[in-house]
Amino acid sequence: MSLSLYDNYTRSLRPFSPLNLNGEVGLYTCGPTVYNDQHIGNYRTFLFEDGLKRVLTWNGYRVCHVMNITDVGHLTSDADSGEDKMEKGARRVGKTAWEIAKIYTDAFLNDLDRLGIARPTILCRAKDHIKEQIDFIVDIEKKGYTYQTDDGIYFDTSKQNDYGHLARLHREGLEAGKRVDTGGKKNITDFALWKFSPREGKRQMEWESPWGIGFPGWHIECSAMAQKYLGNYFDIHCGGEDHISIHHTNEIAQTQARCGTRLANFWLHGYFLLSNDEKMAKSAGEFLRVQSLIDRGYDPMAYRYLCLTAHYRKQLSFTWDALDAAAVALDRLRHGFFSLPADPHALPDDVILNEITLAMNDDLNFPRALAICWDTLRKTADAKIKRATLARVDDVLGLRLSQWQPQEVLVPDAVIALANARQAARSAKNWAEADRARQAIADLGWEIEDKPEGYRMKPIGKKS
Ligand code: AMP
Ligand code: ZN
Repeated sequence: MSLSLYDNYTRSLRPFSPLNLNGEVGLYTCGPTVYNDQHIGNYRTFLFEDGLKRVLTWNGYRVCHVMNITDVGHLTSDADSGEDKMEKGARRVGKTAWEIAKIYTDAFLNDLDRLGIARPTILCRAKDHIKEQIDFIVDIEKKGYTYQTDDGIYFDTSKQNDYGHLARLHREGLEAGKRVDTGGKKNITDFALWKFSPREGKRQMEWESPWGIGFPGWHIECSAMAQKYLGNYFDIHCGGEDHISIHHTNEIAQTQARCGTRLANFWLHGYFLLSNDEKMAKSAGEFLRVQSLIDRGYDPMAYRYLCLTAHYRKQLSFTWDALDAAAVALDRLRHGFFSLPADPHALPDDVILNEITLAMNDDLNFPRALAICWDTLRKTADAKIKRATLARVDDVLGLRLSQWQPQEVLVPDAVIALANARQAARSAKNWAEADRARQAIADLGWEIEDKPEGYRMKPIGKKS
């Protein structure tokens, strides 16, 4: 029943075993670029990575999880042109790049907590590792992999025969078909390691280097920090599917040049959250934050539940109907779990736990694990054992079932008075007055639902 994971480097499902014999798994996941809030698409990838970590722990491994914060060097264009997203974002909100790095890093960490995503073991910021990045570039420069242009130091991808293996890129094909201006680059796939500050106008974030004042390219931060904290070759590297063709391809190229390894044994990618059939993106019209869900009355854990219903290697279309369905299902699961009696001496059902292990170890099949939870809840079995089993399974689902309890909703006196007046009007068949009372209740932010036994009040937009 060993853990199998789909590795995009070899394009195959492979049995996982840690490289380090002491059983600690090294995991590097590409973190956010902190020029704005993250959207819920970004969090789909972070939720997948959290699930992977929980499954590794479920299998008895300790995990050393390193995540970077990109707070310099990520340009608006993947072709190494355009502005630094941080400097542009700083102008947008009228603060410095240093200030927004802190604001959006804090916001990101707060969102992780709201979604039940465990924090990384090591959170490292690109701007705190400039020396490591410069040392890295100096080293690969000595090995002959770099060249200088007017605007920076570039990696020469033609020096590696297997450049682009992860993405199955065919460099010759790309070169032959190139139509775009590559600036001073020798090959279309070459990428910046160090960019010079522009001659006119001063950048907010810039540093001295052997090549002149400037800032690091985006890809070098991950190679440098991953190597610093996890070594030349570690277990698993993750990110979203958009990283396959450029960012991760270039991380591998740099590390191969310096250390002769492909950086990680396994390369796993989370597939996109789509909005109207397109990748959800910050630049696109609709940009949903975790806070946007809360503002509409959703518990962020409903989004976590929604992500669990789809396999991480399949794209998922976001719709409000799908989120509604997830919120209803989560509410039922919570109520079902809450109604089971807790007994600290009850042991989980091993047969069910084995089924969960089979599902999780089959490349993180969370949808199947959820289905097993529902079957468990419906089973006529000892209620205390059912609760102990579901509590244990929640270690991988991360839905915080044990922490939840129904909330008493306090209805304001004014709303109760209006509801009573409406009942009296209905009894007197004064429908116009009853409608007026309903509208007055709605104006105060409440909804009234008629039930056979009377009525029920709930705040408008509240899902449970
Ligand atoms: P960024 O802040 O752009 O560096 O992205 C942070 C993480 O979110 C990266 O791993 C991206 O690959 C991932 N990501 C970006 N857009 C989406 C999306 N629509 N769905 C899922 N993951 C995404
Ligand atoms: Zn990265």
